[in-house]
Amino acid sequence: NPAARTPDVIAAIATAPGRGGIGVVRVSGASLSEFASALCGRTPQPRRAMFSAFRDAAGAAIDEGILLHFPAPASFTGEDVLELQGHGGPVVMQMLLARCLELGARLAEPGEFTRRAFLNGKLDLAQAESVADLIEASTAAAARSAVRSLSGRFSEEIHRIVDALVDLRMLVEATLDFPEEEIEFLERARAMPRLEDIRARLESVLDRARQGALLRSGLNVVLVGEPNVGKSSLLNQLAGEDRAIVTDIAGTTRDALRETIQIEGIPLHIIDTAGLRETADTVERIGIERTWREIERADVILRLVDASAAVTDTTPESIDARLPQGVERITVVNKIDLAGLAAGRIEEPVEPSGRICLQVSAKRGTGIDLVRAELLRIAGWHAHGEDVILARERHLHALRAALAHVESAAAQSAALELFAEELRLAQESLGEITGEFTADDLLGVIFSRFCIGK
Ligand code: GDP
Ligand code: ZN
Repeated sequence: NPAARTPDVIAAIATAPGRGGIGVVRVSGASLSEFASALCGRTPQPRRAMFSAFRDAAGAAIDEGILLHFPAPASFTGEDVLELQGHGGPVVMQMLLARCLELGARLAEPGEFTRRAFLNGKLDLAQAESVADLIEASTAAAARSAVRSLSGRFSEEIHRIVDALVDLRMLVEATLDFPEEEIEFLERARAMPRLEDIRARLESVLDRARQGALLRSGLNVVLVGEPNVGKSSLLNQLAGEDRAIVTDIAGTTRDALRETIQIEGIPLHIIDTAGLRETADTVERIGIERTWREIERADVILRLVDASAAVTDTTPESIDARLPQGVERITVVNKIDLAGLAAGRIEEPVEPSGRICLQVSAKRGTGIDLVRAELLRIAGWHAHGEDVILARERHLHALRAALAHVESAAAQSAALELFAEELRLAQESLGEITGEFTADDLLGVIFSRFCIGK
C-alpha cells in the first residue's frame, strides 16, 4: 500500500483565492478523528455535516461552519479526509489553514490530494489528469469531455484494448515452444483478424483523442487588418451568442492584444496585430514581444481587407515580414455589402496556390458560416459531441506509439517472437496512459501542474 509510505497529514485551501460566501480547507491523512476533535471539541460522525466552531489552541473560535469527515478508504484521496467549510474570506481561510498546520498538517503541494488518490487506486492517471482538465476547461464542450474522462470512459476504452492485446499475447506466447506449428496456429487462432480489430480500435481512439486535443488547446489565430476593416465585427459574428459567455467569466481576462472566442466548443485564441504598434513604453513593449512569441505559434492567419476600399491592404511591412511562414492563410474580404459583391469562397489561383479568399459582410452576417467552416477545416475538426476524448499530448504520444507497435506486429506475422514482443510494447505504451507504466518523475511533472488544494 503506497499510502503507508506517506502517512503525513496535508492541508490546503481548496477554494479559489479571494472572497466568497464559503471557503473550504481540505485535510487528508492517515487518521484524523483526533485532529477533528482538537479543532472542534467533538468527533464528527462519518459523512455527516456537523455545524461547529473551529477553535484555536486557546479554545477561541476562528470561524464557525460545517465540518465533514470522510474516513478512509471512502474518500477522494483514499485516506481520512476532513473538509472545513468556513466563511470565504482570505484572512479567515489563512487562519484556519494555519490552525491545521499547528495541529500537525503540512501544506499540500500542488495536485497532492489527487496524487494520493492516484497512489491509493481511487483514480487512474488519465482520470487524475481529467480533474485538472475539468478545472481548466475553457469551453463547455471541453468540460463535458473532461467529465467523461473523469468518470473513466477513456480509461475503460484503453483497458479493453489492453485486454485484447493480452489475450492475443498469451495465445502467441503459448505456441512459441512449438515453432513448427506457428503459421498454422496463427490461422487457427484468427490472430491476424484479431490484430486488425485492435488496430482499428486504436485508430478510432487516436482520432477522437486528436479531436479532444483540439478542444483542450484550441486554435491560435492571428488577425491582421487595419483599423476599421471590421475585425471586432467579425469576431462578434464568429463567436455568436457564445461570446457573452466567454468574456463574462471572471478570470478569462481580456487584454488588448488577445482574446478567446469559441466555435463549436473549440477555443480560438485570437491575437489582433492591430495592437502591435511601435511604442516607447517599456511595459507595453514587453507585452508586444510576448505577443510576437505567441504569433510564432499561430495555426492560421486571418487577413481582413475592405472590399469597399478597392481591397487595398496597408498592413505595415514590419508586421508582414514577421508573420510566420508555412501557416495556413485566409483572406477575408469584408464589407461586400458596400461593394455590391456576393458572399462566397474563392480559391485564389495565384501562388502560393490554394490560398483561400472569403467574401463576407461582418456587419450583415453574410458569409460568416464560410469563415467558421474554413477555420474548422484547418483545425481538422470533424467530431461531434459525445465521442471526443479530451486528450493531452502525452496521451496522443502513447496512442501513436501503441499503434506503431501493432502495425509492426502485423508486419512480423512470420516471426512469432517478434510478433509477441511488439504486442508487449503496444501494451506498455497504453499502460502509460492509465499510469500502470509511468515513471515517478513523470508523475511529478503531471501533478505539479495542478492547483494547490486539488
Ligand atoms: P475594427 O477596427 O477592424 O475592429 O473594425 P470594427 O469591427 O470596429 O468596424 C469598423 C466599422 O466598420 C464599424 O462601424 C462597423 O459597423 C463597420 N463594418 C464592419 N463590417 C462591416 C460590413 O461588413 N459592412 C459595412 N457596411 N460596415 C461594416
Ligand atoms: Zn476593433
